[in-house]
Amino acid sequence: MKKRWINLVLGAFLIHGLVFVAILFTSANKIALVLTFISLTVIVCYFSIKNYDAVTSPYSLAKMFVEALKMEKFGPPLSEVDEPDANRLLRSLNRLAEDLKSKHETIKKLENLRIEFVANVSHELKTPLTSIRGYTETLVGGAYRDPEACLKFLKRIDENSQRLSALISDLLDLSRLEAFPDILEWQSFPSQNISEKLEGMFFPTLANSKQKMFIKFSDSVIEGDKKKLEQVFSNLIDNAIRYTPEGTLIEFRQRREGKNFVYEVADNGPGIPQEHLPRIFERFYRVDQARSRETGGTGLGLSIVKHIVLAHGGHIAVESSEGVGTKFTIQIPTRIL
Ligand code: ADP
Repeated sequence: MKKRWINLVLGAFLIHGLVFVAILFTSANKIALVLTFISLTVIVCYFSIKNYDAVTSPYSLAKMFVEALKMEKFGPPLSEVDEPDANRLLRSLNRLAEDLKSKHETIKKLENLRIEFVANVSHELKTPLTSIRGYTETLVGGAYRDPEACLKFLKRIDENSQRLSALISDLLDLSRLEAFPDILEWQSFPSQNISEKLEGMFFPTLANSKQKMFIKFSDSVIEGDKKKLEQVFSNLIDNAIRYTPEGTLIEFRQRREGKNFVYEVADNGPGIPQEHLPRIFERFYRVDQARSRETGGTGLGLSIVKHIVLAHGGHIAVESSEGVGTKFTIQIPTRIL
């Protein structure tokens, strides 16, 4: 600290001296000028030291630093000085600032995600609602008199209501999973329960879509939250049916690998382009927007799948090649068996 104000006094003298020499050469009353110089030097030094300490002492700098942090302004870290006590304070303030900065960035990211999510939900809700309103107004406006148009519009209203209801139910599932990720009804149960459920759910659709499905469980007893696992497998199989053409083979396989139950859902459909794979589990992310909507997709299916798998302490991966097919692999660790 002492060193710094000595430097300052020398600096003040130097500037002051230069000005004085310049004036001395041009002035007539040299004694008065020398006296003025001395008195001015004393005044300049006094105020400089006083203000310098007020502005540049480590404690003043620390105070200004904290004031800036309060306003969420994150500047460069405080530099250390020659005083060990002050340095301890400066170092802990720098650590605090780092911590606050990273928390601030996380909050900002979450806030952006929230804004994006609300915008997506509003858009997704608005689209079917606008259609329902449009068809209803047309019917009320007189189209109800034409039985053919009436039936056509009522079907559209029904489709859009189903879409709304699917979206709301997916949103509720997702928010429940996010709010209570640990609430699982973990149990061991016969794998046959799930295979029968999946067959009952999809065989009628497969007959219409001319696709084939193969289900193979290696273990007769599996474990996890039965209802939630059913939802995971049905979401993946439903996608495989919706995004692949006639004649596709959809395979569901289960096996045990050490302490994990492994499940695979594979199809030999058109596949997912590599650039989309890293984002495929994000909410509302779709590779083909039109196809997803046309087939009743909400854009939330894979996000729900991932949340359920993570709630089980498991892991999900996707592999896909264009023109070859797509395979989702899930690992769920055992707790009972
Ligand atoms: P969606 O409701 O749109 O089906 P998902 O989250 O279930 O939403 O799936 C996200 C996107 O992943 C889909 O829109 C689709 O483009 C792609 N996708 C999912 N599964 C498959 C698959 N088996 N084959 C090709 N594309 C798929």
